[in-house]
Amino acid sequence: MKKKFVFATNNAHKLEEVTAILGDKIELLSMKDIHCSADIPETADTLEGNALLKARYIFENYHLDCFADDTGLEVEALNGAPGVYSARYAGDAHNSEANMQKLLQDMEGMENRKARFRTVFALIVNGKEHLFEGIVKGEITKHRHGTSGFGYDPVFIPEGYTQTYAEMGSELKNKISHRAVATDKLCNFLSK
Ligand code: IMP
Repeated sequence: MKKKFVFATNNAHKLEEVTAILGDKIELLSMKDIHCSADIPETADTLEGNALLKARYIFENYHLDCFADDTGLEVEALNGAPGVYSARYAGDAHNSEANMQKLLQDMEGMENRKARFRTVFALIVNGKEHLFEGIVKGEITKHRHGTSGFGYDPVFIPEGYTQTYAEMGSELKNKISHRAVATDKLCNFLSK
């Protein structure tokens, strides 16, 4: 029988991505599946801290094995910003369009477009905490390209590719993304 884990996210895109990668190996429960409608506050100042906050919330309230992620886009020329504040870069509204617009504006005229996506997964299994990291280097485009995916996908080209995450579509993105790298590490750990 497959082991069950709660993925502590309210982001349907992330759930879809991680289910596509892990779905045949473990049974993934969403927050909805466990009747949890909480919007767990992300008040830490690191990705690790926020991922742990979300996983601990589920473990402490539901006593289930679970994991959570937090992701940031780190831009070299902006000294790592927006980083842990990626979701709220343009304000509290968590508005991806506004976030991308602010990023493109802040980088106007900048030649150094280097950036990386970093995901941290916090897993709690049998009450023990484990962290896994996934990094994908790339660059920020000058304009939006593509319509698939979510968040900053239309402005990020991963290293070794010519298309943004939003142009390449979910099948390829799910194979190479920062979340795929972190998910693979989590999966290897669980299958030991
Ligand atoms: P969080 O992990 O949900 O807090 O995400 C932080 C911010 O990064 C949000 O604005 C997301 O839309 C964005 N983000 C997270 N993962 C991705 C991704 O795979 N592609 C593009 N943007 C992402």
